[in-house]
Amino acid sequence: EKGKPLMLNPRTNKGMAFSLQERQILGIHGLLPPKVETQDIQAMRFQKNLKKMTDPLQKYIYLMGIQERNERLFYRVLMEDIDELMPIVYTPTVGLACTQYGHIFRRPKGLFISIRDRGHIRSILDNWPETNVAAVVVTDGERILGLGDLGVYGMGIPVGKLCLYTACAGIRPEKCLPVVIDVGTDNETLLEDPLYMGLYQKRDRSQAYDDLIDEFMEAVVDKYGQDTLIQFEDFGNHNAFRFLRKYREKYCTFNDDIQGTASVALAGLLAAQRVVGKPITEHRVLFLGAGEAALGIANLIVMAMMETGMTQDEARKKIWMFDKYGLIAKGRQQETDGNQEAFLHDSPGNIQSFLDAVNTIKPTAIIGVAGAGPLFTHDVIKAMGNLNERPIIFALSNPTNKAECTAEDAYTLTDGRCLFASGSPFGPVTLSDGRVFTPGQGNNAYIFPGVALAVILSGVRHISDTVFLEAAKTLAEQLTDKELEEGRLYPPLSNIREVSVQMAVKVMEYVYAKGMAFRYPEPVDKNNFIRATVWNTSYDSFLPDTYDWPDVTTHIL
Ligand code: NAP
Ligand code: MN
Repeated sequence: EKGKPLMLNPRTNKGMAFSLQERQILGIHGLLPPKVETQDIQAMRFQKNLKKMTDPLQKYIYLMGIQERNERLFYRVLMEDIDELMPIVYTPTVGLACTQYGHIFRRPKGLFISIRDRGHIRSILDNWPETNVAAVVVTDGERILGLGDLGVYGMGIPVGKLCLYTACAGIRPEKCLPVVIDVGTDNETLLEDPLYMGLYQKRDRSQAYDDLIDEFMEAVVDKYGQDTLIQFEDFGNHNAFRFLRKYREKYCTFNDDIQGTASVALAGLLAAQRVVGKPITEHRVLFLGAGEAALGIANLIVMAMMETGMTQDEARKKIWMFDKYGLIAKGRQQETDGNQEAFLHDSPGNIQSFLDAVNTIKPTAIIGVAGAGPLFTHDVIKAMGNLNERPIIFALSNPTNKAECTAEDAYTLTDGRCLFASGSPFGPVTLSDGRVFTPGQGNNAYIFPGVALAVILSGVRHISDTVFLEAAKTLAEQLTDKELEEGRLYPPLSNIREVSVQMAVKVMEYVYAKGMAFRYPEPVDKNNFIRATVWNTSYDSFLPDTYDWPDVTTHIL
């Protein structure tokens, strides 16, 4: 056997990069073509093949295939071309992959826990081959991107997010555990799909669901330790808020849709502030959507405003929300939920169209997080352009076809004056006068990998919202003036590894300074400490440590 398991395991396989000695000693000589290849050549082969492919889903399948065979090579390829490939392993293509999950399925990745497994989660965790997990990303598949309930097909999301933990922040892949919790799905199409892979039942919304999640949290920390980071991802609105409240003081956990999104959006506003010179407190923000993302962002904006001396009430008054039924305000007919209460203001009249809301509220910024498609109409964009010298327009809904508007519309209809960011990537836009703008991508990947790295390395027990405020500031500071001039509100994705490391340094300094870090001794030079820890994709040697003894020791003197 010797080396064959090493070849079959993607974590250890090096393909043709096994050296001649390794092949001989491990008993795999002859099982590979004679050439001993460098990782450079291996990467080139995959890059060339990827370049030839035009269909994003085909690229996704191909990339996932590399991950299944040779993990280090996969990360090498991904990291080298992160701006091209992030839209494949993450939004928008990962969304498509999730909808097609049962059709493109090759090999399972991640852990599947179903409502039928109640009472046995701990033994399922014991089946996971890694014993040293530091970070878990978990979804129940109810609100995958802006695509709705995809049940276990949502597994693509935790898998993709954790790829970014490694690619962006150098967190070792074996420390990352993707989990999908299957409590059924309310997606009728899937329930009738013979290729569907989850339980054929409606979502369990009873106490059993809560008990299952409780059991899951307990089992994870029981197995991997109290400081295991647990990231909640793409849960339905109601559950996301509930679980965050329930677990945030008890576990090392955060909800990326609420808190990560908040941080990246606030960073965009802070970067915009560097361009416009208008302090955050002078903004009036109107949200399209009033769910996880909107409320997360709104609450973090309030925190940022309060840091400058504003009261909470004053800050909240700067923020308005518009949902399916119209502008949210006191006394409106349709119900609002408790999370929205802070942003219920005196009604300026019954406003049902978003355009009316814009014209009435006169926001300096509109932020689209409804997941309901292109609702920033031409009229809305033009109205923002009339109201503001430099309107801020964030179309954050994912994937691309759910975005509130395109980058092109935003720039052309405001004559290049707007400060634009989207959730899914858009290419540069050239106006008729030749000016070129590079839209920002308000991608959570600027935040969660760096924050996760800092949290893991510092032994943080609970993640406070101030950590995300700190992360937002750090991100906004990392843009150069030149990048701001190009219209960017975020650093280029190609730079994300450095961005994440710098963010981790700042967050780590912050959590130690605030007494939130429990790993001792505290590293004095956090920058060096982090850089020395991050994982890279070079292959390990499997040769035993062989050496000669100086002959004197083998003679009797
Ligand atoms: P959510 O909690 O379900 O919230 C969606 C909100 O939009 C709800 O308030 C909903 O109102 C409202 N809404 C639905 N249809 C609408 C319509 N036609 N007009 C106005 N409002 C409408 O979901 P979420 O977590 O906030 O995510 C929303 C979107 O943001 C998704 O597309 C997601 O991909 C995107 N997102 C982007 C980023 C990013 O770019 N960094 C991060 C996170 C999320 P009701 O409750 O009344 O239905
Ligand atoms: Mn998400």
